[in-house]
Amino acid sequence: MLSAEERGRYARQLALPGFGAAAQERLREGRVLVVGCGGLGSPALLYLAAAGVGRIGFVDSDLVDLSNLQRQILHATTDIGRLKTDSAEARLRALNPHLHLESYPLRLSPDNARQVFAPYDVVIDAADTYATKYLVNDVCCSLRKPFVHAGVMGWCGQAMTVLPGQTACLRCIAPTPPAEPEPAARAILGTVPGLVGTLAASEAIKLLTGLGTPLADRLLVYDALAASFLTCAAHPDPACPACSHLRDSQ
Ligand SMILES: [Zn+2]
Repeated sequence: MLSAEERGRYARQLALPGFGAAAQERLREGRVLVVGCGGLGSPALLYLAAAGVGRIGFVDSDLVDLSNLQRQILHATTDIGRLKTDSAEARLRALNPHLHLESYPLRLSPDNARQVFAPYDVVIDAADTYATKYLVNDVCCSLRKPFVHAGVMGWCGQAMTVLPGQTACLRCIAPTPPAEPEPAARAILGTVPGLVGTLAASEAIKLLTGLGTPLADRLLVYDALAASFLTCAAHPDPACPACSHLRDSQ
């Protein structure tokens, strides 16, 4: 049952065809972890909280820096020097006080990732290094946990949903992580992670509610300069080191 407050707060999505109280209750029961409170994580977290996802976790060990504010819209000028997880928590609580928020002010590593991921239904990869993206991929595959990959560089971004054991993962597309870009190659237009992080939140909402078709076995590539969206087919690799054994065991 939804409360009167929930019926009011979520009225515009409750009115969507096929959504209704059942989908809203699934969101309220839903648990999403976002890895990274930066350019991708900011819009993802804001929209997940606004939509009423009942339990939201977020991981980041960094402090808010002046140069983050051009794209990391969770954080304000007055947050400079604060832990990103602290300013994220305050912003999300102000937006929607009814949610359970779990902050992880730590650097994700092979030693802690399984424990951090375990309580969640869906993980969003909003990390800014290939090392962390591949860690998210590998741990989610080993836990058979659905996740949404999101990545940006320059004027371009990409997203893909992975259902381990059913659809292609990152290592099916590129078996080993590319070299991390030099600092000079980290230039980015703020709206690009804004859009791609929002796509990732849409995917998480679809997975939790069971509505629509996931962005799986398809890599969506957005180019802001060309104003184009391309969708590239992605195929599960029968020799993938991260996910092929999941298909064998089904
Ligand atoms: Zn794979």
